[in-house]
Amino acid sequence: MFDDKTTCMVVVGAQWGDEGKGKLVDVLAERADLVVRYQGGANAGHTVVIGESQFILRQIPSGILHQRVTCVIGNGVVLEPENLFAELDQLRDRGIDTTGRLFVSNRAHLVLPYHKLLDAASEKSQKLGTTGRGIGPAYEDKYGRRGIRVIDLRRIECASHLLTDRVARANQLLEIMGSADRASLDDHVALLERLAPRLLPLAADTGLLVHRAIREKRRVLLEGAQGALLDVDHGTYPYVTSSNTTAGGAAVGAGIGPTAIDGVLGVVKAYTTRVGNGPLPTEAESPDGDRLRQLGGEFGAVTGRPRRCGWFDATVVRYAARVNGLTGLAVTKLDVLDTFSEIPVGTAYRLDGDSCDEMPSEVEALGRVKPIYETHQGWVSPTGTARRLSDLPKGARAYLDRLEALSGVPVRYVSVGTRRDQIIEV
Ligand code: GDP
Repeated sequence: MFDDKTTCMVVVGAQWGDEGKGKLVDVLAERADLVVRYQGGANAGHTVVIGESQFILRQIPSGILHQRVTCVIGNGVVLEPENLFAELDQLRDRGIDTTGRLFVSNRAHLVLPYHKLLDAASEKSQKLGTTGRGIGPAYEDKYGRRGIRVIDLRRIECASHLLTDRVARANQLLEIMGSADRASLDDHVALLERLAPRLLPLAADTGLLVHRAIREKRRVLLEGAQGALLDVDHGTYPYVTSSNTTAGGAAVGAGIGPTAIDGVLGVVKAYTTRVGNGPLPTEAESPDGDRLRQLGGEFGAVTGRPRRCGWFDATVVRYAARVNGLTGLAVTKLDVLDTFSEIPVGTAYRLDGDSCDEMPSEVEALGRVKPIYETHQGWVSPTGTARRLSDLPKGARAYLDRLEALSGVPVRYVSVGTRRDQIIEV
């Protein structure tokens, strides 16, 4: 993955998120010097299993689990500081020392309690299936140029002054939205005063830090959250997240130029899932959908919500390959298909009777498409112990070859279980 010419890599989700990026980044981080989160907030939940322990990391890059890796939360992230502190405490309690290894961009915007109140109120009317953690309203404030950033904590009186206006505004909006909740200015001021002493020592000009690492040929991994189909520009709008999850967002959100990026690895499940509302063309009917959910443990890492499950959708992955400029694929959760005797794959769509192999721009049209399936014979044997492609059953290899051909991107990694060692490098 890394070599003399490839020192800065992006890892992105190439479906609707939850593709297993956490595990992939954990495995790849072993060879990295720096791991950077560049968008999203505490709505992303990466799950990493090490031995008998399971770590759920929402904001801290999963690279933190490797003692020699430095981690960065970039300017493109909206940060929920109390949640960050809870994660740090969890890591410390479990013997992982993060001292001097975690930096937070001083340009990152803060998610504050009033953002959560606004999120809950707007979810009642918009029903987008958000996680309710205030991420959307925090990005709205960022682009509305009324956000509060990490750097603002340096001058707490100014930050408190900003809060007077922000909290009043949030309360007006809550009233308009018919919510009985109200944010308290005093509580918010007290919160900032409490946060500052712990957050400021972690704050840095992280764009400069990443730039220097790249210049020194250190190995940098830029870790995306969510997936391409949830990108605010390229996803199934409005059922999307509030940031650019695609590889372009990595440059902006990490504070580096796009020419610094040497490659983009797209993580895909061997099937498809999505949480929340919006179309999912290859959604499997029961009992297959339920079986995929149970076997794959498809329940949200943050919310516990059951994920909607379906078959691999090549139109989605081809599209993700295009909008991300993918240079490689990592196929995860191949083992989840081990017991299926037949495995459908969606190769293209039919839209109003015509064949269609590109992603429609309109969410309403995507809701109308009928997938065109081809059916693969299952391999019906366990793959979890495979460590080389040649260890896999013939049927599983043929399946991966087909995913590669349909996606137009070479498969570089195959994950066959939750554990670190359950990975095949192609
Ligand atoms: P992320 O947000 O993309 O990191 O995805 P999540 O962490 O939400 O979901 C991935 C889940 O799948 C986690 O519970 C992982 O432990 C698990 N997982 C990752 N790779 C594999 C795999 O190859 N096989 C199986 N069975 N589970 C996997």
